[in-house]
Amino acid sequence: MWVEHPQGVTEAEREAFELLPDDERQCIKCKTTCFLSALACYDCPDGLVCLSHINDLCKCSSSRQYLRYRYTLDELPTMLHKLKIRAESFDTWANKVRVALEVEDGRKRSFEELRALESEARERRFPNSELLQRLKNCLSEVEACIAQVLGLVSGQVARMDTPQLTLTELRVLLEQMGSLPCAMHQIGDVKDVLEQVEAYQAEAREALATLPSSPGLLRSLLERGQQLGIEVPEAHQLQQQVEQAQWLDEVKQALAPSAHRGSLVIMQGLLVMGAKIASSPSVDKARAELQELLTIAERWEEKAHFCLEARQKHPPATLEAIIRETENIPVHLPNIQALKEALTKAQAWIADVDEIQNGDHYPCLDDLEGLVAVGRDLPVGLEELRQLELQVLTAHSWREKASKTFLKKNSCYTLLEVLCPCADAGSDSTKRSRWMEKALGLYQCDTELLGLSAQDLRDPGSVIVAFKEGEQKEKEGILQLRRTNSAKPSPLAPSLMASSPTSICVCGQVPAGVGVLQCDLCQDWFHGQCVSVPHLLTSPKPSLTSSPLLAWWEWDTKFLCPLCMRSRRPRLETILALLVALQRLPVRLPEGEALQCLTERAIGWQDRARKALASEDVTALLRQLAELRQQLQAKPRPEEASVYTSATACDPIREGSGNNISKVQGLLENGDSVTSPENMAPGKGSGKTGVVWVGCWLNITE
Ligand SMILES: [Zn+2]
Ligand SMILES: [Zn+2]
Ligand SMILES: [Zn+2]
Ligand SMILES: [Zn+2]
Repeated sequence: MWVEHPQGVTEAEREAFELLPDDERQCIKCKTTCFLSALACYDCPDGLVCLSHINDLCKCSSSRQYLRYRYTLDELPTMLHKLKIRAESFDTWANKVRVALEVEDGRKRSFEELRALESEARERRFPNSELLQRLKNCLSEVEACIAQVLGLVSGQVARMDTPQLTLTELRVLLEQMGSLPCAMHQIGDVKDVLEQVEAYQAEAREALATLPSSPGLLRSLLERGQQLGIEVPEAHQLQQQVEQAQWLDEVKQALAPSAHRGSLVIMQGLLVMGAKIASSPSVDKARAELQELLTIAERWEEKAHFCLEARQKHPPATLEAIIRETENIPVHLPNIQALKEALTKAQAWIADVDEIQNGDHYPCLDDLEGLVAVGRDLPVGLEELRQLELQVLTAHSWREKASKTFLKKNSCYTLLEVLCPCADAGSDSTKRSRWMEKALGLYQCDTELLGLSAQDLRDPGSVIVAFKEGEQKEKEGILQLRRTNSAKPSPLAPSLMASSPTSICVCGQVPAGVGVLQCDLCQDWFHGQCVSVPHLLTSPKPSLTSSPLLAWWEWDTKFLCPLCMRSRRPRLETILALLVALQRLPVRLPEGEALQCLTERAIGWQDRARKALASEDVTALLRQLAELRQQLQAKPRPEEASVYTSATACDPIREGSGNNISKVQGLLENGDSVTSPENMAPGKGSGKTGVVWVGCWLNITE
């Protein structure tokens, strides 16, 4: 704007105000930024004022003040003209934009046309205006729509399941495209998609309305829906329907009576899956059924577990009842299965017991013990078990009693061995080594006896046969041993035959000198201090030669060496009592059979011995013996000793009754022998001198 020179100011200067920083062109009075003119002072270079405040510049003379201006008067009309043209072109543009945005001529502009209008505004540097903003907004909305449509179409092709549009969103999009003042050819695509989706929706609605539809149809609908790329509300329902159908199908299969029974875990898995399935009457029903089934199955399993574990065993009938109850549960129940197996075993066991109890003869102890062990292991209450245990117990106590009766303390023999004939009686070395092993604690019982295995021992027949065979072998063996040992030189009489084999005591040394003893059975010699001596000989000191003070009866008290003395020698009454107890046992033991054989053997021998003693010859001999005794008792002791204490004292008797001796020895050869040294009480066995060694071998006291 042009202003006349202020009063008195004559100087003027052109100034491009727009190039100055704002603070250098401010009026110091009113702070207005000056564009076209200002008053300044040469002397006061720090400030200027607008033309309204010329009096506020400074106090200097106006000749020192000067005008600063932007344009001359000539320049202004050109400027004005230019301004006019510019204003006119903006108007034209704005008009075009308005027509386009309002669709005033009824024709939607294309996207490119709208974009061209925007470019024009940019090129012509039109100031930012509300109209331009509307144009820009419209363009970005159109761009967004097109992008969405492209995404929709490509998504449909690629079947991407990434952010799907919902049906509602699709409708909104279509509406938006229709309302925008821009012609978009993509709108046709969108309309197509919408039509497809709507057709699909109608189909899905129909399928859902006519439930139950076939699972195949539902599944194909679901798949088609996924290909649409648009989320249809019915799709969710379809999905649920398909899941329900699938789950129901699985449950049905699992519970089918013909199917392989699934485990509890499978059932639990189905139930967990079922909890995630949307409810429907049939799903709810299946869930309830499954839950009930599981509860019942678990309860029975618990019961079965209790039956298997409990200390209190249950009878087979109870187990059968439990198993029957669970038969119709279509689930595999491991505990019930275990219970079934236990029951089957128990039934087999009962059958075994029946068979063994009702057999031809009593069951043998081994079998009973086996049955008891099996029965104890079974988790089933078996009434027969108690009875069997009792039988086994009785048999054991019988055997214990028999052992106490027959076995010596720390015996190296078993009861059965002692009761049976010693088949290796003739083998001195076997007996010796065994005795040594026992003394050293090395001996272990043989399992084989009389050549019989544990199995043979179950059969009473084979025990009896073996016993008879053993008797024969024993007899032969002992005769052989006696022959051999008799040939050995006596340590009492210095021998001239140095080459013949000599006796060896159990200590391993050759017995010699004072205190040696000869076994009445095997005829071998031993140190008196190395062997235990029958109690009648323990006092006075046992010696057949060095003790002249022995009583008259002492010489026929017999000594048995530890190798021959295998057992105690109980009286026949004791044994008969044992046999009576054995008969009451409903159990068979090999020891029982052996004892019976032994008893028969003893009684048979006793019979024959009595007959022999009753014969003429023996009675005569006994008479003679009685006379001798009377003479002895009448004589003083020393003499008596000198005559009768040595082993040779027997000789006259033997000679005098040769027939009888051979007769008695015949008894041995028949395989029978009874009596023992203990039994040689005074005045009782005095007539049996010659047969003593026979009876020694047998372990029954007559
Ligand atoms: Zn001012
Ligand atoms: Zn001044
Ligand atoms: Zn010795
Ligand atoms: Zn002997």
